[in-house]
Amino acid sequence: MKPFAQMSLQELIAPEGHACACGKRHKAGLRCLRIGTGALESLPRCLFDIGVTKSFVIMDSNTRKAAWHLVEHALDKAGIQHTEYVFTKTHVEPDEHSLGSLVMAFDPGCDGILAVGSGVLNDLAKVFAHAVGLPSAVVATAPSMDGYASDNASMIRNRVKVSLYNACPQAIVADTRVVKEAPMRMLQAGLGDMLAKYQSICEWRIANLVTGEYYCENIAGLVRASLKKIVDNAEGLKNRDEAAIEAVVEGLVLSGIAMSFAEVSRPASGLEHYFSHIWEMMALERGLPVELHGIQVGIGTLLSMQIWDRLKTITPNREKAERFIETFDEKAWEHRVRATFGSAAQAILDTARKEGRNNKAAHKKRLDKTLKHWQDILNIVAEELPLYQKIEGLMKSLDLPLTPADIGFDEKDTRDAFLGAREIRNKYLTSSLLWDLGLLYDFPFPEPAK
Ligand SMILES: [Zn+2]
Ligand SMILES: [Zn+2]
Repeated sequence: MKPFAQMSLQELIAPEGHACACGKRHKAGLRCLRIGTGALESLPRCLFDIGVTKSFVIMDSNTRKAAWHLVEHALDKAGIQHTEYVFTKTHVEPDEHSLGSLVMAFDPGCDGILAVGSGVLNDLAKVFAHAVGLPSAVVATAPSMDGYASDNASMIRNRVKVSLYNACPQAIVADTRVVKEAPMRMLQAGLGDMLAKYQSICEWRIANLVTGEYYCENIAGLVRASLKKIVDNAEGLKNRDEAAIEAVVEGLVLSGIAMSFAEVSRPASGLEHYFSHIWEMMALERGLPVELHGIQVGIGTLLSMQIWDRLKTITPNREKAERFIETFDEKAWEHRVRATFGSAAQAILDTARKEGRNNKAAHKKRLDKTLKHWQDILNIVAEELPLYQKIEGLMKSLDLPLTPADIGFDEKDTRDAFLGAREIRNKYLTSSLLWDLGLLYDFPFPEPAK
């Protein structure tokens, strides 16, 4: 088998999947993938291939404006019937309420779901399609996030961000005529979500080393290759250059395929995503609008790189780490979680306790590994993370927000997100590594503003 990084999109989504050296057979649920100018002409064919004759179309007023004229034309021309549901509020949240709206509007005569949109609409469509047991397709309207092809949906349940593992869409159509007209902020967000992959791949390898968690080099290589193509072309995003836009769309779709292949979000999401998740929860708690995922994630990537730049200079100390766990104050921990997560805290505490977040025996195991492999960890970081200045410079040249303050979060919010990241899910992050070393709570981060 040739490496994933050298396969075409069609080869990657082969229905029989790929028997990989990592021991898994990697398979994407995707049956039809079209990216490029005029791709929408293939939509009816794609729907036909996945057995859809009448679509329940999910849009919001913006995505309707961006793409519906082309989508409707393509459907009508091919005689594919449709019932539409348009979210009319400005900020659609991926929560129980939105999902309930779809249930109430659903036309049971439909045999497939068609999302016209990106982020939230795509996530809602995945969960809804899974719930009603129908195939789904998506027409991308913006290259803003990497969830198109992934089988996980980023949702809000009981006000907590959760990843639900449902089914991925069986068809994705990204017509360059549509995505290239997306608001510049969404193009920037797509780039931000891709830059995150430096940190997520780095963290995936470290997690594999320290916790023995599953890792696949072939999948990591696929993500690295598409990230490189994007960064090489990124300058062109400014002028909405088609090659640059298509590289981002392709990278985002490939990241989703990588997550489907790995059956975990590791290839595409690490600590940088947790800054975003927690800021999003803070915004919800405060009743403020939520910034685009990829914009937050881009900033989270810079923060994660800053953390590593500092961490690289530290020599871990066993005694300090052991003293930390022996004197660990469960009450103070609970207090901190409550202060950070507000009304979501109880659910987080319950899960964290059930998963043994502060379990001493597990800590000892990880600590032993971390100390033993410290040099290997530093080597991974050197291999995976580019120079901070390079990424910051690239983001600056494309006018991406660079700091939490740029999107309305202060130092305390950032520190709370940094400390709270390990509490949300049972996922080993760079901040988990700091916790194991007894360094997390005194870690001088973020740097005070200059
Ligand atoms: Zn593999
Ligand atoms: Zn993301």
